[in-house]
Amino acid sequence: MKLGVLGGTFDPIHLGHMAAADAARAAVSLDRVLFIPAGDPYLKAGTAISPGEDRLAMVRAAIEGHAGYEASTIELDRPGPTYTEVTLAELQEAHGPDTELHFIVGADTVRDLARWHAPAEVLSRCTLVVMGRPAQGGLDLASLDAISPGAAQRAVAVDLDVEVSATEIRRRAAAGESLEGLVPVAVERYIREHQLYKEHA
Ligand code: ATP
Repeated sequence: MKLGVLGGTFDPIHLGHMAAADAARAAVSLDRVLFIPAGDPYLKAGTAISPGEDRLAMVRAAIEGHAGYEASTIELDRPGPTYTEVTLAELQEAHGPDTELHFIVGADTVRDLARWHAPAEVLSRCTLVVMGRPAQGGLDLASLDAISPGAAQRAVAVDLDVEVSATEIRRRAAAGESLEGLVPVAVERYIREHQLYKEHA
């Protein structure tokens, strides 16, 4: 089985994430995609992050009715900083050797990867499926080879140009602007009903 793994802060999940999952699924024929909200994204320390229950609820609302898409609480349930390397190890253990993990990331995440905990182990545990994000500087896989020689060659690059970011959505929500076309309708409703991102005003 080919299992896609899309991890993120998801504060909130948006149509860029949905497009990334769709594009990765099509590019490498994924059977399922797991959306995994981060428990404690320590690299975003200093940034206020919405409670895990809100981020998970928005993920669930976004993927409802999408066959093959599932939310996982594996990182929310684990205490301490969220290390992707541990998540991938746990998923491999849970799903067994016949499951191939495909870790779906944006190009900006590739540039950050060297700063992560155990980046070489992350790369050894999965096939990286990288989405180009032109407005975020485009795709440069060469940095992967500095972490693990040959990793750039093993990664799958997918063209995607959906310039939506959670940062911009939080700004718009705080300013009372419409989120139409940026997040799934159910997520926009959740943000409104739970008055999220008001403090960014
Ligand atoms: P923020 O603006 O708060 O930093 P974000 O929009 O980048 O958030 P995250 O939850 O941090 O969202 O992203 C999770 C993963 O999805 C990362 O690998 C990121 O690169 C990727 N991603 C986010 N937005 C897009 C997009 N528009 N296109 C492709 N990939 C994306």
